[in-house]
Amino acid sequence: MSHHRVTIVLSQAQGKNPAKRALEESLVAALIMEPGLDVSVIPYLYDIDEEHTGRLFLESVQGDMVVLSWLFPRAAFWLLDRDGIKGHWGETQLKPAADENEDEDETTVEPEPAKGIGALHVADRHIYCLDLRDFNAPDPYLVEIRRIADECRTRQHAKAKPVLVDLNLNLNGQANGASSPAFTPEQLLQTPGRRWYPVIDYSRCTNCLECLDFCLFGVYGVDQFDRIVTENQDQCKKGCPACSRVCPEHAIMFPEYKTPAIAGAPVGAIGGLKIDLSKLFGGDVKDALAQAVDERDRELVADGRQAVGMAVGIPKRQADKPDQPKDDLDKLMDALDDLNL
Ligand code: SF4
Ligand code: SF4
Repeated sequence: MSHHRVTIVLSQAQGKNPAKRALEESLVAALIMEPGLDVSVIPYLYDIDEEHTGRLFLESVQGDMVVLSWLFPRAAFWLLDRDGIKGHWGETQLKPAADENEDEDETTVEPEPAKGIGALHVADRHIYCLDLRDFNAPDPYLVEIRRIADECRTRQHAKAKPVLVDLNLNLNGQANGASSPAFTPEQLLQTPGRRWYPVIDYSRCTNCLECLDFCLFGVYGVDQFDRIVTENQDQCKKGCPACSRVCPEHAIMFPEYKTPAIAGAPVGAIGGLKIDLSKLFGGDVKDALAQAVDERDRELVADGRQAVGMAVGIPKRQADKPDQPKDDLDKLMDALDDLNL
């Protein structure tokens, strides 16, 4: 069986930046010529909510998927997971130019096995997320997408299960001429309103629930298995990243936040993260907490509520944490401390 198809979803940038649009358009033009790929375009992934046709389309995709977006891959992957669009993490070999010397860098931290609680009900397919900010030209993406499509086909053949029905219907017919009328490009591309909410990386999250205690705006809850979940995403306060500073595992991402470490930059990419981490944590967990408390108080007051300072929902992690094995981000912070930044 060689008809295993791979769905490519291109998520557009917010706004109308001509350089970004040009890259998006040249990618789509090239991809629709590639055999075995179904190509669809949706608006900015982070902004589409459950009512949006783009979300319905994503939910309808059954097989392996490559998502091209203007987001860090970790943020894109875990926001899809939160929205029920699940799969195994597809490892990309696409490396932004800035990372190329990483291997020679003595301070590079070896990635360690994830200690988080992981995702639930992961579908039997892979989702690869590529960051459109890595290159200005389409070629590196096209090369990587071809490699991924081969990898998916090889994996599919190895499973050697008879395929009875090709579930991979192309529902956005326009891109490559298939005929399903289910979602028109006009519906798919309706501009969504802008959103702001935390995204949890469950490969890091240990379900300590400190974010649940800390947030006083009802954003977090637990699911039927008592696992932390962003229950009321849109109750989060626009621009505020407070709880990401409180999470002991750095598992909470705000994809739109200016600091890459909070926006979901790859963990272990020391070159890119060095300065951001020193800013984020100030070499001192207490600074991050103080900052988070200030940010939270500001939002409480803006809501006409009382500031609470350190009196409510402050993590006990300084007392509880020392026994845990250090992971790469912790080591990185130690290394930064040693440098006296
Ligand atoms: S604070 Fe972080 S590690 Fe703890 S439950 Fe929240 S996201 Fe998970
Ligand atoms: S940023 Fe603030 S409002 Fe949003 S989830 Fe975190 S603590 Fe709650």
